This record gives sequence, structure tokens and C-alpha cells, in this order.
Amino acid sequence: LAIEFLSINEVLAETLSFLRKEAESRDIEIILDLDPNLSTIPSDRGQLQQVFLNILNNALAAVSDKGRIQISSKDSGQNVLVSIEDNGCGMPKETLEHIFEPFFTTKKGRGTGLGLSITYGIVKRLGGDIDVRSTPGQGTTFTVLLPKQGKLE
Ligand code: ADP
Ligand code: MG
Repeated sequence: LAIEFLSINEVLAETLSFLRKEAESRDIEIILDLDPNLSTIPSDRGQLQQVFLNILNNALAAVSDKGRIQISSKDSGQNVLVSIEDNGCGMPKETLEHIFEPFFTTKKGRGTGLGLSITYGIVKRLGGDIDVRSTPGQGTTFTVLLPKQGKLE
């Protein structure tokens, strides 16, 4: 890990710059609700970009054209919380139970099933956690929790 003090909002903006073209061409609305007063936290920029990119790529795959993805950041005392909410296809419970397993995918022939297992590993290594809520036909929210003090050994 390459730990430095990072603005999570800045890392989110950097990650989004990789996806803006696809979102625009498919007319997908990206709503930002970022807390401007977040403190910086000790973390790894490249690893965090990977985390947000994997979740956002899945959100883009889950929404139809003209869909919506909302990204928010906020302070919750000991942690910074980032949530990425889409109004896409959602997942049934039987899918949700397996999404962090390596090679689990429902994208026949197109998915590697590695994105979320890598994402989960990174977030845990950074001392954080991930929560997922999903409703079939309505959408999915991933919440990434990152400790403000960084990883406590
Ligand atoms: P892949 O994208 O290659 O399939 P991932 O590990 O990124 O692998 O995701 C695993 C599975 O989790 C996906 O195949 C999909 O079924 C489900 N999934 C992840 N994110 C979402 C989402 N935002 N909406 C609906 N399903 C999702
Ligand atoms: Mg994926």
C-alpha cells in the first residue's frame, strides 16, 4: 500500500473522469452529493480508485440508458462513508449472497466475476468495510466505510 492523506471527494472525482464519456453517451445521470467538509484520510489513492471504479462500472452495467447513479460522501464520526446508489436492475437475495466471491458473475460470457472480490479485499486491507442493499427491479446501494484514522494495526 502507498498511504498518503487523501481527499476522498478528489479520489471520487478522479475515478469519475474515467467514466464520464460512457455515462454521457448513454444519457445516464450522475448525481454528486459530496460533503465539502470531509477531513482527509490516510489511504492508498490507486487502490481506492480501483474500489470506486469497480462499483461504478457495475452500476453502469446495471442501469438502463437514462438511468441514474448517485454518489455521496459523508462524515460519520470515526469513518468516512461513500455510497454509490443506482436505479438499475437490482439483485435477488440468492445473487447478493455470492457477489464478493471470486469468479462469481451473472454476466454470461462478459463478466470475470473478479471486480467485487478484489474490491472487498482492498477495502478490508485499508481497514474498512462494505455494505450492500439491493431490491430487484429497483436498484442497488453500495456503501464503503473508510476509517478516518486509517488502518489500525
Ligand atoms: P462482474 O462485473 O465481472 O460480473 P463483479 O465481481 O464486479 O463481477 O460483480 C459480481 C456480480 O454482482 C455481477 O455479475 C452482478 O450480478 C452483481 N452486481 C454487482 N453490482 C451490481 C449492481 N450495481 N446492480 C446489480 N447487480 C450487481
Ligand atoms: Mg464488475
